[in-house]
This record gives sequence, C-alpha cells and structure tokens, in this order.
Amino acid sequence: MNETTMLVNESHPLPLNWQPDDLVDLWKVQPRHYLLYPRPTRLSECAADAANGLFEQAEREGFDDFMVLSAFRDSDYQAGLFADSPNGYVARPGCSEHQTGLAMDIAQFGRGMALDDAHAAWLTENCWEHGFIVRYPEGREDVTGIPAEPWHLRYVGRDAAMEMRERGWVLEEWHGAHGMV
Ligand SMILES: [Zn+2]
Repeated sequence: MNETTMLVNESHPLPLNWQPDDLVDLWKVQPRHYLLYPRPTRLSECAADAANGLFEQAEREGFDDFMVLSAFRDSDYQAGLFADSPNGYVARPGCSEHQTGLAMDIAQFGRGMALDDAHAAWLTENCWEHGFIVRYPEGREDVTGIPAEPWHLRYVGRDAAMEMRERGWVLEEWHGAHGMV
C-alpha cells in the first residue's frame, strides 16, 4: 500500500484512517530549496528528498521562488476542505492524493500557478527527472476525471515518471499498462 506508484482517485480510495509512516516535517529540512506556506507541512521521506532536489535545480536555473502550499493531508482535514468547497473540485475524503504523503501543491510565491506560467512549464519539463509527474495535465481530464491542475505534483519515482513522460500516460494509464487496475 505504501508504494510510490499507488493509485488514489474516486474509484480507488484509501481507508480513511490510512496514513504514511514516514512523514517528514518540511520545516525541519536543511538546507531547504523552496518556500513554505505558514502551516504544518509534511511529505513522505522519498517525496520530501526528491522535492528538495527538484527545487535545488529550479534555484540554479533561476526559479528561486517556488512555494509548497500544501502536502500531506489526513482524511479529517480533507473532509473539512470538501465540506467548504462550493464547486465540487475538492476530492472526497479518502480520494485525495494528498493523503498518500506523495503529492504537493506548488505556487510561485505571490502569484499562484496558472497553466501558461513559465513556472508551470518549468515543472512540466523537469519534474520527471526527480520522480514527479504533473498528475492532472491539461487535455487528460477524460482519464483523470480532474480539471487540469498545473500546481499539483505527485511523486511516483523516477522510472515510473520517465515511462509516463515517454508514453504520454497519466497514472491511471500506467496502472492499466502494468496490469495493476
Ligand atoms: Zn493537490
């Protein structure tokens, strides 16, 4: 269950009480190559390490103002977001990737993240080398069931990320191809 490629969506929910056992407090990461929104922020260890590598590269290439807005969310927290959401775009408790500890929402500090931003393009181009995918890409809503979210990165490990990039697959298709759904 704690595999980096685990699939979580509306038809593959997690048990509500499930949570990763290796959460890292991102506020304690030193040196840390990204900004944090002022609230407790945790990721699974592999995703936390990979994120720091990703943003270290970003910093070197002039993108030094990425901010992690939200990472691990337990099902209680997700239930609050779901209840407060007027538009139905927030996943039901148990169906959010944020419960895996492998997903994070990114912004450019002070700006957020839109599909045509240079920051979003940089992430799409470079995140796979660090084992991340843009989980809900534009134009793949038919498979993911989720409107494009350029800010939502998901750690899947480098091999899976590279395969998805080469084949143009989203995670549901990767699971289908590997006979895991
Ligand atoms: Zn997200």
